[in-house]
Amino acid sequence: MKADFAVIGGGVIGLASVYELARQGATVVVLERGGVGAESSWAGGGILFPLLPWDYGEPVTRLTRWSGRLYPEWVVELQARTGIDPEYRVSGMVVLDAPDPAGALAWCAAHGEPAERVEVRRVMPDCGPGGEGLWLPAVAQVRNPRLVKALARRLELEGVRIVERAEASRIHVAGNRVTGVETPRGTFTAGTYVVAAGAWSRIVLGELAPTLPIAPVRGQMLLFKTDPGRLAPIVLRHGVYLIPRGDGHILAGSTLEEVGFDKGTTPAVAARLHAAAAEIFPPLAALRPVRHWAGLRPGSPGNVPVIARHPSVENLYLNSGHFRYGVTMAPGSARLLGNLLAGGEQPFDVSPYRWPG
Ligand SMILES: Cc1cc2nc3c(=O)[nH]c(=O)nc-3n(C[C@H](O)[C@H](O)[C@H](O)COP(=O)(O)OP(=O)(O)OC[C@H]3O[C@@H](n4cnc5c(N)ncnc54)[C@H](O)[C@@H]3O)c2cc1C
Repeated sequence: MKADFAVIGGGVIGLASVYELARQGATVVVLERGGVGAESSWAGGGILFPLLPWDYGEPVTRLTRWSGRLYPEWVVELQARTGIDPEYRVSGMVVLDAPDPAGALAWCAAHGEPAERVEVRRVMPDCGPGGEGLWLPAVAQVRNPRLVKALARRLELEGVRIVERAEASRIHVAGNRVTGVETPRGTFTAGTYVVAAGAWSRIVLGELAPTLPIAPVRGQMLLFKTDPGRLAPIVLRHGVYLIPRGDGHILAGSTLEEVGFDKGTTPAVAARLHAAAAEIFPPLAALRPVRHWAGLRPGSPGNVPVIARHPSVENLYLNSGHFRYGVTMAPGSARLLGNLLAGGEQPFDVSPYRWPG
């Protein structure tokens, strides 16, 4: 049977999009090159907030804030139906080096984001550095590998067909319509096609979007294991963050490297991240990282994703380019795409997410 939709890419953006479409009653097939959720959506940190939101434009602010508000209900439903806990929790974030704290506080006040200046030891009593920091108590996080697992399970329960090891190698177009997607597992046809292939979206589209400004940006991460509860909030200092998980794991990240599709890790970055992490939280100095990895973010100008229909191919859509905040933006971007496809009303002006060029 021909599906209503074929979605190319099974990362958090593709899976969230499919979830939205399936909930609207559509039949969907997911075509994933490898295994679902194994690329950037696995490698990321899961902070549900832009690192320094006052540094971004309104299109990022609007989408991240709206998407963040959708999260609690989204994850409760996912967990209830799948039994998989994506570990959504409001852990708060402390920024140790906000360059303009007064400006940051003014931004927070204007956007309804709780914020205050605090003695850092008040929020990191165990071994935080001295001095003042900017405390953002409402910042939440999710354990992204578990989130994508829950999403994939939820889709299976919904009857969605997920085809792994199905790399889209060619999109066939006749006139102004896509007629099928070629993969090693056969050619798939659907009424409408959505590309959500993250950093690889431009390659997937090929001649259909030769100048699409979405390109890989590598980020390396280190993982430590401590006793649970040693560090409570997310901490950011000089661009390096620590994300404490409930079971005592602490992630330290990250880098922004333009090295093409190379997912390799480097000892120099491991050493630099380890030193920076230990300056923030000294007990990490004595620990060896338990894991070091890299992921490829779908980089985009201004961190603004494209959530739009192709300018001339009428049954082809793109949901990609979420760069540093794809986990944060996932439920919101999926909802915007769903509205677009259903001709529904949008919650705000979505023209910034149009197809570029
Ligand atoms: C180190 C790091 C830290 C991060 N931290 C955060 C954070 O704290 N908060 C936050 O919100 N975001 C964070 N991000 C960003 C976030 O992870 C990404 O924006 C998000 O995962 C993008 O999701 P995606 O589904 O578009 O891409 P991906 O997860 O990369 O998924 C794309 C999928 O498409 C598939 N694909 C590619 N080509 C094809 C093809 N030809 N055919 C079929 N399938 C194909 C891939 O195999 C992949 O599974 C971080 C990213 C990194 C790397």
